[in-house]
Amino acid sequence: MSVIRLPLAVWIGKLVGWVSRVSGHKGSSLPGMVARKIYPRVLTDLAARLRRPRLLYREDQGHRNTAGKIIAVTGTNGKTTVTHMLYDFLKMSSQKIVYNQEGANMINGVTAAFIASVGFFGKVFGEFALLEIDEGSLPSIMDEITLDILVVTNFSSDQEDRFSMASAAEVVREAVAREPSVWLVLNADDPNTAVLADTMPQQYFFYGTTAGSPSVEARFCPRCAKKLLVGFDGCPGKYACSCGFVRPEPDLIVEPVSGSGEVCCRARLTTGQEYMLRLPVLGAFNYYNMAAAFLTGICLGLDPERMVIGLRNYATSPGRMERFSHMGKPVLLNLVKNARGYSEALSVLDPMIGSVVLLLALSDTAADGCDVSWIWDVNFERLSLDPNKFGCFICTGTRGAEMAVRLKYAGVLEQNVHVIDNTSDAVLAALEKPGTHVVLFSAYSTLMPLRKVLLSKTKLGGPHAENMLSLS
Ligand SMILES: [Zn+2]
Repeated sequence: MSVIRLPLAVWIGKLVGWVSRVSGHKGSSLPGMVARKIYPRVLTDLAARLRRPRLLYREDQGHRNTAGKIIAVTGTNGKTTVTHMLYDFLKMSSQKIVYNQEGANMINGVTAAFIASVGFFGKVFGEFALLEIDEGSLPSIMDEITLDILVVTNFSSDQEDRFSMASAAEVVREAVAREPSVWLVLNADDPNTAVLADTMPQQYFFYGTTAGSPSVEARFCPRCAKKLLVGFDGCPGKYACSCGFVRPEPDLIVEPVSGSGEVCCRARLTTGQEYMLRLPVLGAFNYYNMAAAFLTGICLGLDPERMVIGLRNYATSPGRMERFSHMGKPVLLNLVKNARGYSEALSVLDPMIGSVVLLLALSDTAADGCDVSWIWDVNFERLSLDPNKFGCFICTGTRGAEMAVRLKYAGVLEQNVHVIDNTSDAVLAALEKPGTHVVLFSAYSTLMPLRKVLLSKTKLGGPHAENMLSLS
């Protein structure tokens, strides 16, 4: 049956993708959805056709020979960036890769990525599959394909009406427990991620930082629910519980160091090697993203020196700390979708000198999550402390007015807050307001519309923000 239905599913999927693109739609999931209706095993069958990779895995690490290498990245924050970094690493080795680059990270998007990699005669052009996977979709995807490596970045509350932190961690834990052959790359500094090693995977590896500390919402033991003891032995990230659960020793630990306009850290492996990692993208959370990608590359047997070069030349994904320039003025665009990520992203404002115009776009479409109450957990209070620096706020999106209320309760002067419903008008207003920097924090659904306006009115990239100090 598959002799007919598999090629039929692939070709109709390809046709749907083509029609979708020429009609101006993104169509990153639709081909997968249609193909799965025609032949439900399409993902399993295509994944089995990945070619055997030419490199990797040292024999001494007990590599089991599988037909292909399927690497997945999941977790609340950072999965797009980590996947993108890994893609850059693998591309440097000239690997052909199946990659859901457009961020369609549920089962239809993953299926579509495989369909896009199939040639005329049914051959899958890929030695690796590199998949960003939504936490909620992980079980259904793992039911259909066998992951070789799963990277888990962290768990925090995300779109509360859809997924709480606890349920995301539980869903991932159950999925991983059913697949003990997987190798896990885990964030040691997040207790809810580190505990996945309890699921008895074939191999597990930890990364961590010397500076990180567990988020407030992750301060209870994932094994016994008692309060964790946090920060001891001179390390803010260490945690321990009376039941014996402790922060594992990282196989790779990164230590932030000063760097101007970039994220810079010293990375040490337990085997003794040390590397200086530099990333030309702002955002302190990128220490973790770099560590996750670098350690995964080490697990794959990639050349560390080439990964160092790959990070140095890293070009950010659209809307992830993306830089623009408007008549010489630095403009920064960043996606924000949950309280923890937002609070961490706000730290990018700290080193900016001068006055910052902030555009805050908040929406409640299905893609954003209908419940936007999480904004009350974001530390906007810090923006009220210096009205000279933060003297202009523009709120937009379907819940722009609610964002304005949040700022009012954060102590921001009311006369400095403007609500502009139309997102294009809001961007134009932000660019025209006097200030030395413009920073846009956007919900998921408004990200690309905002970016489109920026692309038409500003220069992509442009000068680095000259007035920024180091982020360390
Ligand atoms: Zn415990």
